[in-house]
Amino acid sequence: MSYSFFESVEKSFDKAAHFTKWDKGLLAQIKACNSVYSMRFPVKMDDGRIEVIEAYRVQHSQHKTPCKGGIRFSPEVNQDEVMALASLMTYKCAIVNVPFGGGKGGIKINPRKHSAYELEKITRRYTAELVKKNFIGPGIDVPAPDYGTGEREMAWIVDTYLSLKPGEIDGAGCVTGKPISQGGVNGRKEATGLGVFFGVREVCDMPDIMAKLGLATGIEGKRVIVQGLGNVGYHCAKFFREHGAIVVAIAEYEGAVYNENGINEEELFQYRKATGTVLNFGGATNIINSSDALELDCDILIPAALENVIDGKNAPNIKAKIIGEAANGPLTPEADEIFAGKGVLVIPDMYLNAGGVTVSYFEWLKNLSHVRYGRLEKRFTENMNHLILEEIEELTGKQATPKARKLIEHGPDEIDLVHSGLEETMISATREIMKIWKENPEIPDMRTAAYVCAINKVATSYTELGIFP
Ligand code: GLU
Repeated sequence: MSYSFFESVEKSFDKAAHFTKWDKGLLAQIKACNSVYSMRFPVKMDDGRIEVIEAYRVQHSQHKTPCKGGIRFSPEVNQDEVMALASLMTYKCAIVNVPFGGGKGGIKINPRKHSAYELEKITRRYTAELVKKNFIGPGIDVPAPDYGTGEREMAWIVDTYLSLKPGEIDGAGCVTGKPISQGGVNGRKEATGLGVFFGVREVCDMPDIMAKLGLATGIEGKRVIVQGLGNVGYHCAKFFREHGAIVVAIAEYEGAVYNENGINEEELFQYRKATGTVLNFGGATNIINSSDALELDCDILIPAALENVIDGKNAPNIKAKIIGEAANGPLTPEADEIFAGKGVLVIPDMYLNAGGVTVSYFEWLKNLSHVRYGRLEKRFTENMNHLILEEIEELTGKQATPKARKLIEHGPDEIDLVHSGLEETMISATREIMKIWKENPEIPDMRTAAYVCAINKVATSYTELGIFP
């Protein structure tokens, strides 16, 4: 039996709803997509041709506002996919206590086939359509980057929005993932990859879970395969490597490369930029059929590209003991069942990749407060730390080493606060989900435990609104 992406999300939701005690009507409301905006608009391309662009914005839930979620540019975009992704955003935000409802946007284009000028025209026109229908705004719906989009597109969105809404004092908060110069926050770019790393590290530090998987605790020495060398995959590979894991393979759509001694993601990224492919990268073995790379021997598999890449067909061949879903929806429900049967731990997308939206929340708060993180307290903290250290040195008669002095006296910069907020968020969410799973041993997998966590939070906030008993 095959399901559409939205049906898969509904199926996972129903599986988890079974472990909760909420009213059926309330569960149906939580599951439903509240607003679906499907649009078509014309754009004149560089060669003079007029193309009709198909695009969407879905607001899955307004139990908290604004709605939040990225915009993807991909030829595969369709309404079902955007609905599924918007739903995942609701659950994701709930789990990590980010006070937003879920949303998602998509434009059905292949960004590689358009010039920068065409992409700018498409993005600006899309934003104008959202403004016309009141589907964007710092208190309504706040887009962000997703597959195929990044800082550049977010800069076009905020610029278009502000030009249509002059004088809106909090207007910069209409979109996140912006360049720093346009109101972005330090640390947003690497946030999803770093959040994935924090989440997987937390699980790897749980001795009981690792014992069950037959793995040693800790990240060090673990063999990792990453699918995707986009923003998320690149940063996942970087943080795993920097913390002592060995990234043995990296897969992209044109093929994959394997090296048992490890691959440096930055060198591979530069190589691909220069040659247009990951293949024939120095010292590595080519894997021509990219998806074969997922089946190589490793401890941790990180799909960081698109949905439905692991299904009932390839799941039985996968050798990883841990699958960390950096992408949204990379596993089908059949794959989930196969992994639960094999005792493979799947760390689910809807919280594992929440680092992006968590730091988007920090960016939005920065935009509303109109001040950079750390601006008020950095110097004060440094002066205070200096005084405390001096006092300790005087009382003990001992001197701190220059390295320790630097560390202790340092007052927080924006990046320090953002990274620490993200680390705290990912650790707490991992522990909360694991606790639910341990307290309900009949829950079959971590995804279901994560859904139970999300459903409880969204349902509670609905009942607090007084709409449901
Ligand atoms: N597109 C990212 C996601 O799927 C980030 C969303 C956001 O920052 O709003 O979680």
